[in-house]
Amino acid sequence: MKLGWTLAQRAMADHYEQLAREHVAPRSEWHYTREQLDRQAWQAMADDGLWRIPVPEYLGGHGLSWWDFCAALEGITRGSKDLGFCLSLIAHAGFLRSLVLFGGRYHLEVALPKMMSGAVGSTALTEMSGGSDVAKCALTAYPHGDGYKLVGTKTHITNAPVADMFWVLGRINGLPAKRDISVFVVERRDGGIKTGEHEHMFGNRTSPTGPISFFGLPIGADQVLGQPGNGLSTTYATIALDRLLYGVIGAAYLESLLEDAMTFTAQREAFGHPIADYQYVQRRVTNVKLAIESTRWVSYAALGSLVDGREDAALLSSTAKLIGSEGLAGAALDVMQIFGHAGYEQSRHSRNVQDALGTLIAGGTSDIQRKNIFTQLVKLRKTVSAGVPKAA
Ligand SMILES: Cc1cc2nc3c(=O)[nH]c(=O)nc-3n(C[C@H](O)[C@H](O)[C@H](O)COP(=O)(O)OP(=O)(O)OC[C@H]3O[C@@H](n4cnc5c(N)ncnc54)[C@H](O)[C@@H]3O)c2cc1C
Repeated sequence: MKLGWTLAQRAMADHYEQLAREHVAPRSEWHYTREQLDRQAWQAMADDGLWRIPVPEYLGGHGLSWWDFCAALEGITRGSKDLGFCLSLIAHAGFLRSLVLFGGRYHLEVALPKMMSGAVGSTALTEMSGGSDVAKCALTAYPHGDGYKLVGTKTHITNAPVADMFWVLGRINGLPAKRDISVFVVERRDGGIKTGEHEHMFGNRTSPTGPISFFGLPIGADQVLGQPGNGLSTTYATIALDRLLYGVIGAAYLESLLEDAMTFTAQREAFGHPIADYQYVQRRVTNVKLAIESTRWVSYAALGSLVDGREDAALLSSTAKLIGSEGLAGAALDVMQIFGHAGYEQSRHSRNVQDALGTLIAGGTSDIQRKNIFTQLVKLRKTVSAGVPKAA
């Protein structure tokens, strides 16, 4: 169980905080109003080696760990104060780890180098029929020559309008039902892909999100990630990281909100006293701190479990996602109210609420996290009662 960052990880977090302060924060509002991903800042992060951090050296990475990456991500969250930008990073991070875990030659030699060098990745599960029940996906790979042709449409996909690389969930035509779900890795330059306009979202507007359609796009058999038909387990392993990262960025993001709230409550007066003197106000401030601590530690627990390959990783990742997004949304509302009318104007505080609310849906809704937590509880209990020794 990790109880804090090493000195090197602290330095990593500080470095990326500074980088984000220089490259993301100054243009964040500009990109928000234009509903654009800051590609220049994205490239600056890639050039600095962000995506190489957790990738083994023999694959061209820096051979560090996902803990080091999380330290960097916390730094970026604090420095950028841009939740949308961080959501875009999370979509890319899960994809990257999936390539390292399950990748064959194509994924490791073609896709991974691009993903580490500035390409933008998208993780596409959701379809118009729904995002919660991903096993219902209809996108289909039809056997074609030595490979497949992809047909179908994904929707509400982070980064899709601008992405270069796509991690796509679908099914392989001809495989037995329920054993046909597979993951495909596709490059935009392959042709036969059309990404639509970005969707106009309530928040997270620096994270362009939209549809992607495949019109018989030819892909090689080597572009299937993991075993054909094994796409659901590839998916669960991939989204477990995404989910806990919501907790990581949630806690880091709230730190700056807490600072804003503490400063404001000490300065703003009502009834002849600073509002910090009032217990109802103190309650709102302490809510932010409680959200930070509860989110941070469960996210670290989830990451520890994930990187150690423990069987409670999925349960803890969903817990981190649920506590993280609900804590973030609740605390953003508290801070907005602390600022009174200034909080409700179009401002940093109202944007915080808009952005935070998106985390209740992205990465799976709170209901779905609860569903997963319950399913995992039942599964773990069965494992114990069957006498199977638990992994260390
Ligand atoms: C900012 C943002 C970014 C996103 N990025 C991506 C992305 O990169 N890739 C991607 O694939 N998708 C992405 N999505 C889509 C997101 O994953 C889905 O919106 C989400 O999974 C919910 O799916 P849905 O909208 O189709 O709702 P539905 O699945 O139709 O669910 C509707 C409601 O029913 C509830 N519900 C459904 N089934 C159950 C159940 N069994 N038990 C209890 N309640 C249930 C849900 O909780 C929800 O409240 C993003 C969404 C947002 C908001």
